[in-house]
Amino acid sequence: PLTLQEKRIKDILKEAYDKYKNDQSGTNADYIPELAKVDPELFGIVVVTVGGKRYGVGDIDYTFSIQSISKVFTLAHVLQEMGSEAILDKLGAEATGMPFNSVMAVELQPGRVGNPFVNAGAMATTSLVSGKDQTEKWDRIQAYYSDFAGEPLAVITSVYKSESKTNQHNQAMAKLLASYGKMYDEPATVVDRYTKQCAIGVNTKQLAVMGATLAAGGVNPYTGKQLLSPEEIPKILSLMLTAGLYDYSGTWSYRTGLPAKSGVGGGILAVIPGKGAIAAFSPRLDQAGNSVRAQKAIAHISKELGANIFFRNFQNK
Ligand code: GLU
Repeated sequence: PLTLQEKRIKDILKEAYDKYKNDQSGTNADYIPELAKVDPELFGIVVVTVGGKRYGVGDIDYTFSIQSISKVFTLAHVLQEMGSEAILDKLGAEATGMPFNSVMAVELQPGRVGNPFVNAGAMATTSLVSGKDQTEKWDRIQAYYSDFAGEPLAVITSVYKSESKTNQHNQAMAKLLASYGKMYDEPATVVDRYTKQCAIGVNTKQLAVMGATLAAGGVNPYTGKQLLSPEEIPKILSLMLTAGLYDYSGTWSYRTGLPAKSGVGGGILAVIPGKGAIAAFSPRLDQAGNSVRAQKAIAHISKELGANIFFRNFQNK
């Protein structure tokens, strides 16, 4: 039999799903042609607790490209390898307040990459992943993401190919960063690796497990594998809070008080430290590039669960 709290979580998920399933505002990303083809009606929401309990509603088995949510896990890998001071030194941690792929953000203070969650900083982060050659560097990224999900994850080839043909903007930005000494590997190979990491396929269930691993201090709740030191997790969460939803991050944090990261594939992952994660997916995006339904669903659930990190300690939830 369900405990009261479990029933409550199930009800809240269903409520959020019903409330927003007919919301058709926003549009699919189309600057990556393959993303424009994804059925815009898809909608899935999953909660995974640090104890490994899972609740889901909607299209939770559909595999979509992780896109910018990958930036969280590449950062985790580099943090684990280099420590948090090196991140500040080589990458920075300032919200740019500008669009995710802004060249202006780099040029305003020449060579500043912003932070690991905007494209400039994310490519610089990817350039720091160690390995004896390109194959080993990629394999490490893929294996690390898979460890977070607790299952093998693979690239969606059609998305990877589609973005490889249309990513001139990122290629240009990688070279610009190289000119400022902020690319720590050969730019073309970095863009390729970055494009591949964005094309990793996840379903909403796997994404929620990846988030629950962060919520649980770096331990995957299903496999028990420790993937990074607990002291690095607040560093990641603080960046998610200030820069997780592109130039809409401030408003998101103001509304929800939850560290989260979105991707133009339609996914959003929110982490409730010490408790669990909420993942939601639906392809239609707002102006800044964040899934409309996923934002609304997560905001609703977090409010009902009293998950706002700045408020949680005032309550007995
Ligand atoms: N691969 C995408 C890009 O670099 C990721 C964008 C995103 O999800 O914000 O344009």
